[in-house]
Amino acid sequence: MKEYDVVIIGAGPAGCQCARKLSDGKRKVLVIDKIKDFNDNDFSSAGAPIEIVDQFNLSREVISAHWNQIKISTSKNNHIWKSDKALGIVMDFTKLKKSLLKDAQRKKCEVSLGTKFKKIQKHTEGYIIHFEDIISSHTFGVKAKVIVDATGPQRAVINPQKKNLNLFIGIGLEYLIEFDRTITSEFSESRLDFLLGYK
Ligand SMILES: Cc1cc2nc3c(=O)[nH]c(=O)nc-3n(C[C@H](O)[C@H](O)[C@H](O)COP(=O)(O)OP(=O)(O)OC[C@H]3O[C@@H](n4cnc5c(N)ncnc54)[C@H](O)[C@@H]3O)c2cc1C
Repeated sequence: MKEYDVVIIGAGPAGCQCARKLSDGKRKVLVIDKIKDFNDNDFSSAGAPIEIVDQFNLSREVISAHWNQIKISTSKNNHIWKSDKALGIVMDFTKLKKSLLKDAQRKKCEVSLGTKFKKIQKHTEGYIIHFEDIISSHTFGVKAKVIVDATGPQRAVINPQKKNLNLFIGIGLEYLIEFDRTITSEFSESRLDFLLGYK
């Protein structure tokens, strides 16, 4: 059975950045995700202040657009705040995750996609973690001293029964709008638009 110092379960932005931080070439780190391909859950792109590019030493390739304006539209009013210089970026989440993992893999981090976490067993010097390969349904275990639950809101490791989640549950609707960038549009690449209200 393979042994690791740290096993990170979940390769979202948090898990990938964690893998990148912990991989120093000395620790044995494994990051796994049930997703086979990051394009399969590429729902989001994050609008973030420009400072995070240097703060997290992000590769320029994860930036899909820069923005220098914010527009808030409500049911009755709207307002635009503008700056002459770029204030923020919109990231491509698939490229972000791939880029963070590429850095981690350079420092010998192992990555296993299409691998679903099943359960943990306590062991004398740590844990045995059981996984399932989602294509073959083959199950296998690895040993780890430390486990990181980076499964986001699913909390698949620390709260598999989903008891007392204590979350604020809301209902919302999100549209992913694809439009031809060559035509003029109400929306602009250099502006973050927030639409609030009921119509
Ligand atoms: C539809 C949608 C649209 C969004 N839009 C935006 C946006 O425009 N801008 C923005 O900033 N944020 C957006 N978000 C939020 C953003 O996606 C999250 O804040 C961010 O992804 C959280 O990162 P994370 O790494 O903590 O968790 P996640 O990205 O949720 O990553 C958790 C990972 O754990 C894996 N996992 C879960 N259970 C298991 C298991 N049992 N075994 C193995 N792996 C497992 C999942 O496959 C996933 O890859 C959106 C979210 C959704 C769902």
